[in-house]
Amino acid sequence: MHSAFHAVQADLRARPRRWLVTGAAGFIGSNLVEALLELGQTVTGLDNFATGFQHNLDDVRARAGENAGRFTFIEGDIRNLDDCRRACEGVGVVLHQAALGSVPRSIGDPLATHATNVDGFLNMLVAARDANVGRFVYASSSSVYGDHPALPKVEEHVGTPLSPYAVTKRTNELYAETWGRHYGLETVGLRYFNVFGRRQDPHGAYAAVMPMWVANLLAGAPCYLNGDGETSRDFCFVANVVQANILAAVALADAAGLVYNIAVGERTTLNELYALLRDGLAAFDPAIAHAEPVRREFRAGDVRHSLADTGRAARLLGYAPTHTVRDGLAETLPWYAEQAREVLAALAR
Ligand code: NAD
Repeated sequence: MHSAFHAVQADLRARPRRWLVTGAAGFIGSNLVEALLELGQTVTGLDNFATGFQHNLDDVRARAGENAGRFTFIEGDIRNLDDCRRACEGVGVVLHQAALGSVPRSIGDPLATHATNVDGFLNMLVAARDANVGRFVYASSSSVYGDHPALPKVEEHVGTPLSPYAVTKRTNELYAETWGRHYGLETVGLRYFNVFGRRQDPHGAYAAVMPMWVANLLAGAPCYLNGDGETSRDFCFVANVVQANILAAVALADAAGLVYNIAVGERTTLNELYALLRDGLAAFDPAIAHAEPVRREFRAGDVRHSLADTGRAARLLGYAPTHTVRDGLAETLPWYAEQAREVLAALAR
């Protein structure tokens, strides 16, 4: 119980700060807002609902109880500099999550991905600099490792990006570094590996594999498995990502200007993941126990294997993941099952 994170949480409770979370209506952003409100912090959220949802904000407010009054939401767009300036007013720490995720989306519509992920990112850096924000923590991605073959991935060695999305995230890192050099803004980049947890959207053309499979298994719909299923990922439960953001926000100035892998440091193949989900969900519906995936071609732009070395985050941020994939699934699957039950009940009415 004597982790760096516990000490930081106690300190924040004693001396609350003002935070801006961009992408607050999204999956990771809403989990960050929830955790910060739970710590008694004052939080502004910014989102344009491109891929986020009002119901995520409603859920966060409901869970926050009396702390909900410390949350202010601004509906705005990071492609608009004035919206970014308004959101940064009086803020001590920015946790910048707003972006268009998804490799296939970026291949289909690179202009849209670039406008939000690069132009919008630059707007946020300008606004944070001009508002004298103390620390700018931002979401990067394991996709920046591209075609670099090394496993596990270490921060110094990135390859050629394999998609427009990966280019935008690498560009973010390069811009953030120069912001420290020229304007003294302390930035910390967090390279998330595949994140999962409550409020991750299972619907839409660009849903991540885990929530999509969960939703399909619960609905009795087919789960498509790309390639031979031996593609692997370092799946990271969202609580670990929340921890990393909060630690990055308060870490010593020496930790700034760098990027950090945020994952668990364990590799799970898609075949293993499918089995974990199927077996976990069979507890809610025994019919799921024998569901088989539908196999199809490899997907363009996908990296074959992904595994993080989280040593730098451990050393400089005090990061110590609390949840393995199994731990995270144990917390997430009942939530998805409950959502599915609510959808079925609504359809039956
Ligand atoms: P998400 O789509 O649930 O959240 C992103 C949020 O940003 C959404 O609420 C969306 O409406 C908002 N947004 C998009 N464009 C915007 C704009 N122009 N102005 C204001 N808001 C805008 O996705 P997420 O999984 O929560 O991702 C959060 C961040 O983490 C993103 O930067 C993403 O690239 C990064 N990331 C996520 C993962 C993952 O596995 N989920 C992995 C690596 C990196």
